[in-house]
Amino acid sequence: MNRIFSSLPTTVFEAMSQLARETGAVNLGQGFPDGAGPDDVRAKAAEAVVSGWNQYPPMMGLPELRQAVADHYAHHQGLDLSADEVMVTSGATEAIAGALFALIEPGDEVVLFEPMYDAYLPLVRRAGGVPRFVSLKPPHWRLTEEALTAAFSDKTRVVLFNNPLNPSAVVFPDEDLALLAQFCVKHDAIAVCDEVWEHVVFDGRRHRPLMAEPGMRERTVKIGSAGKIFSLTGWKVGFACAAPDILKVLAKAHQFLTFTTAPNLQAAVAYGLGKPDDYFTGMRADFERSRDRFSRGLMERGFTVLPSHGTYFLNVDIAPLGEVDDVDFCKRLVTERGVAAIPVSAFYAEGAVRTVARFCFAKTDATLDRALERLEGLV
Ligand code: GLN
Repeated sequence: MNRIFSSLPTTVFEAMSQLARETGAVNLGQGFPDGAGPDDVRAKAAEAVVSGWNQYPPMMGLPELRQAVADHYAHHQGLDLSADEVMVTSGATEAIAGALFALIEPGDEVVLFEPMYDAYLPLVRRAGGVPRFVSLKPPHWRLTEEALTAAFSDKTRVVLFNNPLNPSAVVFPDEDLALLAQFCVKHDAIAVCDEVWEHVVFDGRRHRPLMAEPGMRERTVKIGSAGKIFSLTGWKVGFACAAPDILKVLAKAHQFLTFTTAPNLQAAVAYGLGKPDDYFTGMRADFERSRDRFSRGLMERGFTVLPSHGTYFLNVDIAPLGEVDDVDFCKRLVTERGVAAIPVSAFYAEGAVRTVARFCFAKTDATLDRALERLEGLV
């Protein structure tokens, strides 16, 4: 058995959801919205199941979806991708795994930013990569030149960067992107950019892809997710965009990981990506309203809420409550209060921040209010 995987616990998201089910807790742990998702996109999928092609689609994805992804990023982010530079994957996680398997030789160094999504480190290790961590700290979670200088070396091959960042809910400012791009260029590294939250940004922010920075067009794998764009997280339709030389190698990993992705879902996503701008602004506004409702409720009850620039999440600083261990706090929260949250220390390998708890606010008002009632009197 492989040591890297056999020694892993069940993911914190699954473990927390399981605990929430057992205890009947309000589940604000695992990040998924509790709405049904857009009717028209789901109707397209249903139509494609009933009257469309349900055998293997082309390995790289339906041509209409590859074109729709390229057009979507041209329209929303000013990128000049061609359909040949897009590959459809079974969710962003497959794209990340495939990129790591395809780009890393054993012994290559991979720069990771903590807090990091829990899939990253085991995949980097299994691909033979040597992790080098940049540890980001609340409340700003900013990149610094010193930290990047310490993490990059002449062995750096890949930088795995998530922006907006789950779980810290930060959108990196342009200066940080420019700084990171300079380091990638200087060290001839490839940036694998997990940008699944690109449309879920608040307060008038616009997502800026790292690929758009000078020198990055040919050295970036940009990864997106229909699950996050359409609030349909179970669909697991993702895309990897990269220059042909890089994408060619990613395709080799993809062909032996999942090979293809459900064609009917791909057809529906191709349709959805062309939806008018008001769908995207409406989605942002809805999530922003939920963020504000939950954040206000927490503050009224005395909690210290950290800023949330994007994603489905907001974080609470539990240090003012006298808490020193977020895992212990979250366990007590679910069993004693009936509210599930995620301890942010689960996203660190080294130098963990242990006093932050992540809550998912992408829920109905009734669900958020129920959680708030249960948190009454805790502070
Ligand atoms: N992306 C989701 C989160 O951060 C979790 C997905 C999963 O459970 N693997 O909560």
